[in-house]
Amino acid sequence: MRRDRSAKIVATLGPSSATEDRITALAEAGVDVFRFNFSHGSHDDHRARLDMVRRIEKARDRPIGVLMDLQGPKLRVDRFESGRITLARGDAFRLDLDATVGDQRRAHLPHPEIFQVLEEGIELLLDDGKIRLEVERCGADFAETRVKAGGPLSNNKGVNVPGVVLPIDAMTEKDRRDLQFGLDLGVDWIALSFVQRPEDMAEARRLIAGRAAVMAKIEKPSAIDRLAEIIDLSDGIMVARGDLGVEMPPEVVPGLQKRMVRACRDAGKPVIVATQMLESMIGAPAPTRAEASDVATAIYDGADAVMLSAESAAGDYPVEAVEMMNRIIRQVERDDLYRSYVDAHHAQAERTPADAITLAAGQVAHTMQASCIVTYTTSGATAIRASRERPDRPILGLITRMPTARKLALAWGVHAVFTDDCHDLDEMVAKARQLAKDEGFAEPGSSIVITAGLPFGTPGATNLLRIAWVT
Ligand code: PEP
Repeated sequence: MRRDRSAKIVATLGPSSATEDRITALAEAGVDVFRFNFSHGSHDDHRARLDMVRRIEKARDRPIGVLMDLQGPKLRVDRFESGRITLARGDAFRLDLDATVGDQRRAHLPHPEIFQVLEEGIELLLDDGKIRLEVERCGADFAETRVKAGGPLSNNKGVNVPGVVLPIDAMTEKDRRDLQFGLDLGVDWIALSFVQRPEDMAEARRLIAGRAAVMAKIEKPSAIDRLAEIIDLSDGIMVARGDLGVEMPPEVVPGLQKRMVRACRDAGKPVIVATQMLESMIGAPAPTRAEASDVATAIYDGADAVMLSAESAAGDYPVEAVEMMNRIIRQVERDDLYRSYVDAHHAQAERTPADAITLAAGQVAHTMQASCIVTYTTSGATAIRASRERPDRPILGLITRMPTARKLALAWGVHAVFTDDCHDLDEMVAKARQLAKDEGFAEPGSSIVITAGLPFGTPGATNLLRIAWVT
């Protein structure tokens, strides 16, 4: 089945989307990639969901991407004697390494690495920034703080330390176990949370060793400072606006989002804009006007994909949220302004045969008003380069490896089809014509533009551009 839009939809699975019928309905409504959030759920839950997604994929005969999202080193306060306390502005409050349960005056913060880097004047943000504590005095195992913004604080709430590079790995022991489990399961993308530096991505690449594509979630100011290097070491990026908006003032997030989308488009790496996109649809059948505008803005900016979190994982209207995203994307992509925004910026082509052929293919397809660009791709790289050009014709990616087809489910404008390799040029043209028709792109009499690499099946060999007519 062909989508009638170029940008993709990512939806998180959870209790609201745990049955095969519900996941099928989400795929029908427009989900291209399912996100498995490893902050929640057991391995058995994730395995059962993956089995369902793969069965649905088979029944629909369309590759579906699976994105594993590792929890990362989320810092949390420990528990309180009463389960919950209330802090008032001006209160003194102590955080320490003493494992006894907390009370109104102190809490256990089981992360020695934080105490190593704290200094007087540093702010700690608790519970998504609702509570702000300023450090007044600290040592290797404690921090005495003053409450700057108070409120209720319950067991295990998150702690953010903005503006400080923490001496911790992006992967905890749990992440390493989950990663191994996900690789054995056969997930397509692996997202790393709380990436602080390029070295975090290098370590992940070493462990993943090409068995899945690697995504950096950008949610720390230190990652923004070294964004270009992190993008370089990633296959894709997630603009993780939830934690980013805690670590940095909310008013800087929109500009950062635009910069990240631009940087990823330039680099030719898929970029997801995530979090709170249709937040009110967790409990309501329609979004606010501002939320609809937020999704539309990400699409006008040229993002590859937009993402649903709690809306599809734990909300009352998961299918409606996907349908709404689908409608917003289609509406934007039909607007003349969208094309003018997308064309206002094009990344510099690199001096490679793949970029030269891909750029030419977009122009030829436009001039010919071709029904699609058919891209034979082994590693997926040529289809991603074609997507980077944001051509005004759809890209039909013909792929001989199912994992590559699934990975490309995230890439703007790419309709991936899993097929056998070709042996000669005649077969290449015949197969492209047939699949362009079968997949609903081309009518008899219309033209298609084909790119491929000779010898067939060689990664990185794209060197051929051909126009063909569909009969
Ligand atoms: C985010 O912070 O925006 C995000 C996607 O991360 P998570 O929801 O996994 O914390």
